[in-house]
Amino acid sequence: KKADRYVVVTGANKGIGFGIVRQLAKEGITVVLTARDATRGNVALESLKSQGLHNVNFHPLDVTSQESILALAEWLHKTYGGIDILVSTFEAYKLLKHFAFVINNAGLANDDNDVTFETVKPGLDTNYFGVKNVTKALLPLLRDDTPGGARVIVVASTMGELKHLENKDYVKTLSDREHITEDFVDSFVNHYLKDVVDGSQKEGGWPNWTDWVNSPVGRAAEPYSVSKVAVIAYVSALHNTLVAQPGSGKKINVFSCCPGFVATDINNNRGTKTVEEGADTPVWLALHSPKECIGKFWIERKVVDF
Ligand code: NDP
Repeated sequence: KKADRYVVVTGANKGIGFGIVRQLAKEGITVVLTARDATRGNVALESLKSQGLHNVNFHPLDVTSQESILALAEWLHKTYGGIDILVSTFEAYKLLKHFAFVINNAGLANDDNDVTFETVKPGLDTNYFGVKNVTKALLPLLRDDTPGGARVIVVASTMGELKHLENKDYVKTLSDREHITEDFVDSFVNHYLKDVVDGSQKEGGWPNWTDWVNSPVGRAAEPYSVSKVAVIAYVSALHNTLVAQPGSGKKINVFSCCPGFVATDINNNRGTKTVEEGADTPVWLALHSPKECIGKFWIERKVVDF
């Protein structure tokens, strides 16, 4: 029954996230629109209400703040579940009244900046660590009796395809998706950050966007690419972790996807697709949760090698 469904969307006050909320709300699903800024989030909420969509709620979420993530998780428990947030054992999930799915959409690209630790850290914190921390905190809220499995969708990018990585060892390890681990992805990101501090990205074989001026996110192409490689790999790693815990009795399907080149603020509105078109694949994954290719990377409703 659609009315029993709840979905959380991150970074949803504008852009693709906003489009995702609107499409899911039109399906009759209850959507929790989250945004790091309460004013911007509430303006977005009011705009949806004025379009007749009253099944949307707002809650603040800055994906880079653990405090903010836990506050959201606690509120979701109280509002839709009603059990102690700190009781996040697998047994506790079964007490929840409703199921939910989560769409990790929030994204950041600091263009126009030189590549230094200070300029790249916020993007990695948002696009990689933020996705990971939000997912970890909200996994216990996902029901294990959602028809077709509960879902976590991560909005990544083709800029995270392995072809952008020149380090062949990483390409080899990250191609072997069945064996990627979460610790490995962490070490990959931390290695990049260390190389940025040392100024040795070229030697490290990190994405080399010599034509960054023409990249969708300008100067941020290199760290943005790393963050999206990492988040696509994280989705595979998380799938591997979940598969390795069959005793939990909980079925969660995780997917990463690219929305296409969409006209939003992240690329100074240079994209060629509309927000509604960009929302299509994440929404489709959320609603249909294909049985095959879980843990993999999707574009235009099709799975692709990454
Ligand atoms: P926008 O810049 O329009 O939207 C990004 C959203 O993320 C905003 O709501 C922004 O909030 C939010 N956000 C940024 N940092 C945080 C944070 N710390 N906590 C919570 N929310 C945050 O870009 P898009 O809609 O294009 O981007 C959505 C996703 O799609 C991103 O992951 C992006 O990488 C991905 N993507 C986009 C493509 C495109 O062509 N547009 C192509 C491929 C991938 P605020 O308004 O407060 O800044």
